Amino acid sequence: MTPPPFSDTGDRSHETDYVVIGSGIGGLCCAALLAKYGYRVTVCESHYLPGGAAHSFQVGGYSFDAGPSFFLGIGGPPGDGSPNPLKQWIVYPPEGGCFPNIAAGSAYEDTILRRGGPEALRQWRQLDAAMKPLQTAAGLFPAAALRGDPGVVLTAARFMGPEMLAMGGVAPLLTGPFSALVDRHVTHPWLRAFLDLEMGGSAAIIDALVRGLQRNGGRLLLRSHVESVLMEGGRAAGVVLRGQQQQAGSSGSGAGGGGGGGSGRREVIRARLGVVSNASVWDTQRLLPEGAAPPEWRRKAEATPALDSFVHLHLGIDATGLDPDLECHHLVVNSWQGITDPQNVIIASVPTVFDPSLAPPGKATVHCYCAANEPYELWAGMDRRSPEYRAFKEERAQPLWRALERFIPDIRERTELKLVGSPLTHERFVRRHRGSYGPGISAAGGQGWPGPRTPVPGLSVCGDSCMPGIGVPAAAASGMIAANSLAPVWSHLAMMGELLPAPGAAAATARR
Ligand SMILES: Cc1cc2nc3c(=O)[nH]c(=O)nc-3n(C[C@H](O)[C@H](O)[C@H](O)COP(=O)(O)OP(=O)(O)OC[C@H]3O[C@@H](n4cnc5c(N)ncnc54)[C@H](O)[C@@H]3O)c2cc1C
Repeated sequence: MTPPPFSDTGDRSHETDYVVIGSGIGGLCCAALLAKYGYRVTVCESHYLPGGAAHSFQVGGYSFDAGPSFFLGIGGPPGDGSPNPLKQWIVYPPEGGCFPNIAAGSAYEDTILRRGGPEALRQWRQLDAAMKPLQTAAGLFPAAALRGDPGVVLTAARFMGPEMLAMGGVAPLLTGPFSALVDRHVTHPWLRAFLDLEMGGSAAIIDALVRGLQRNGGRLLLRSHVESVLMEGGRAAGVVLRGQQQQAGSSGSGAGGGGGGGSGRREVIRARLGVVSNASVWDTQRLLPEGAAPPEWRRKAEATPALDSFVHLHLGIDATGLDPDLECHHLVVNSWQGITDPQNVIIASVPTVFDPSLAPPGKATVHCYCAANEPYELWAGMDRRSPEYRAFKEERAQPLWRALERFIPDIRERTELKLVGSPLTHERFVRRHRGSYGPGISAAGGQGWPGPRTPVPGLSVCGDSCMPGIGVPAAAASGMIAANSLAPVWSHLAMMGELLPAPGAAAATARR
């Protein structure tokens, strides 16, 4: 199914069933699934590349990931003994030296015993035992069966076998904060700090999602910034795009510019059935015209606390004589106190360890960033073209260089290409309010993550501002849940039949 081309003038106006605003992991998952359900879908992405926080970009023959590189939930839960190499970090603690942290069974326990001692291990085992029923329940109940309306009773019924029903008692734990479980079982200070560290080439994932969308007739419009949601008769009826000339000149359009054919006309994409926003909770509010949403909902959304942002170093380096046993993932901890303090925890990856094609022959790529602990306030209002901004970037990148020197001592001399990113870069290229990692929603505070439905008729939401939260697997699940919620229950059931293993098989896998 190939959608018809646009008019000769390049005007992007057309009518479709659903418009998805943003091509982050959540938006692409939602759009690809809606297209598979048989709807006409158009994704409008502001940037010239798809993927949002998970996009990849190329400079000077090097390929870089803009964000995530560590995907928990893809190979199985931590402790499953899976050989997924993405589950292995080398940790550089403040006391010096380094140790491998392999997020799998006995190796993980060895690390805890050696670094934290017998009491830390005892408490870890207690926590692990408390988590077991949660892991089983999560394995039995896939995100593809979830939807945001009462139809969930039917789509979930298939998984309500005796094993799931026997787990009735863990339901509050599944929806409650993991921190509550940690609080109950772990008092050992080192173990608490160590558990705080646990968190989760993205290009292949994004490419696969775009292929899935397009194979089912869906459309991805890049360099297509949505200026506002079109409201008609009190419901979201489409989107108004920023004019292409304006987009080319605007500071927030990404490095790409406006895709040619510049027209000053107002371009509108009408959505017969609805609009799904993959923009963050704050950015979605900015797209809604005055009076479109109930003021109380709007006020609450705008008041959502934002987590801190990032400083990044993307480097192309000379790989001559690099340690052949160099690992990919490294995590430097400057202090076990105040684990979330600015520039305390620093994450680095050398993706060419797994895939040398990401750099020219004889070279390597390095991505290093502070772990969502850079305060936006330090950067607010700076002019990105000013010498002060450039100097400040260099200053704030120094702890990143020092972190890299822990495992590549001569990294500065090896560097041939250097890109320093700031919260302003993140704000601009991922279109994130304050360049934030995401909403600081604390389930412990009783807030809870919003589902896909909004009080604005015709408007749904997905992405890491929604349930189940931040991270690639979570954002993907939110996109699936949003798409499922828009499809009739019977289509959802048929889709589950196609996509999911038989319930007995799922239970057997979860038991293993
Ligand atoms: C540096 C970094 C490292 C990370 N590391 C990990 C990790 O190791 N493991 C992990 O699991 N997760 C990690 N994450 C988190 C994970 O990447 C995100 O939670 C996830 O990718 C967010 O997806 P999303 O669907 O919410 O969309 P987003 O990535 O937020 O994408 C939203 C898209 O919408 C577009 N958009 C917004 N407004 C408009 C508009 N008006 N018009 C058109 N388009 C618009 C944006 O341009 C963007 O492309 C990391 C994030 C960052 C930033």
